[in-house]
Amino acid sequence: MRLYYCDHYSFPLPAGHKFPVAKYALLRGLLQAHGGFELTPARFAEPAEIERAHDPEYVRAFLDGTVDPRIMRRIGFPWSRELVHRTLASVGGTLAATADALSTGFGGNLAGGTHHAFRAEGSGFCVFNDLAVAVRTAGRRAAVIDLDVHQGDGTAAIFEDDPGVLTVSLHGQNNFPFHKQRSRIDIGLADGTGDAEYLERLGGLFPAIREFSPEILFYQSGVDGLEGDRLGRLRLSMEGLRDRDATVFGWASNLGVPLVVTLGGGYAEPIERTAEAHAQTFRAALRWRGGPQPTTLVGRLTD
Ligand SMILES: [Zn+2]
Repeated sequence: MRLYYCDHYSFPLPAGHKFPVAKYALLRGLLQAHGGFELTPARFAEPAEIERAHDPEYVRAFLDGTVDPRIMRRIGFPWSRELVHRTLASVGGTLAATADALSTGFGGNLAGGTHHAFRAEGSGFCVFNDLAVAVRTAGRRAAVIDLDVHQGDGTAAIFEDDPGVLTVSLHGQNNFPFHKQRSRIDIGLADGTGDAEYLERLGGLFPAIREFSPEILFYQSGVDGLEGDRLGRLRLSMEGLRDRDATVFGWASNLGVPLVVTLGGGYAEPIERTAEAHAQTFRAALRWRGGPQPTTLVGRLTD
């Protein structure tokens, strides 16, 4: 199973910054140790590709380092040439994963899921919306299943008037973004929601997704719903997240459509716990696709 990564493009952050930059390399290490994955460096997305979902002026300003400082503050990263490279590779990974999904049925990116980026501005650690760029590039009827604990507000806004895209967001109602956008389907969960209620609400989404008849599914698989996450307010267990992932994989099987899996948020500490939560998503995807069984003790212990 091929997966794309871009953690080798590091970028400078001030000391104590909330962005969990370390989790990406940890995740890649866990999957490398597990075996069965073809870990591939992501290519850079081209500006013309990004402009399929973004304002060309905004794209150019970000690439040039002339983006409005207020927008950079909302994104939450200092601008740097290294950040540009990381951002282009993050979008490029989702584009490559989408091409894989269209040819093999599955594609995965160990980055992306930057769902807070709007057409002409970024926000919340998200510069460009890789999901939106990939949906536009795929050119198919698409459902975006966003299970990050934060609403997929940028994605919702970009596709608000597009009847060919079903945006679905299951998130914490009292969490960022505090001004919610309108997805086609939004479920706002109360603080402290646990596995049983979460999985019931999730399962209840399937009839509407089937009714929409998507030709491809995009899964934003953020793990910040995990209990104890610094920026989440839900109380999902590792097992609950595993059942959540299996639910989405089952939908793709049931519908017989390709699936693209991107990362999303995850801020639990220690950071190894967050990396493990992401890793179990991709290990489950490997089993779901009938790949080789775990050959290492790491995989057997944590599965
Ligand atoms: Zn999040």
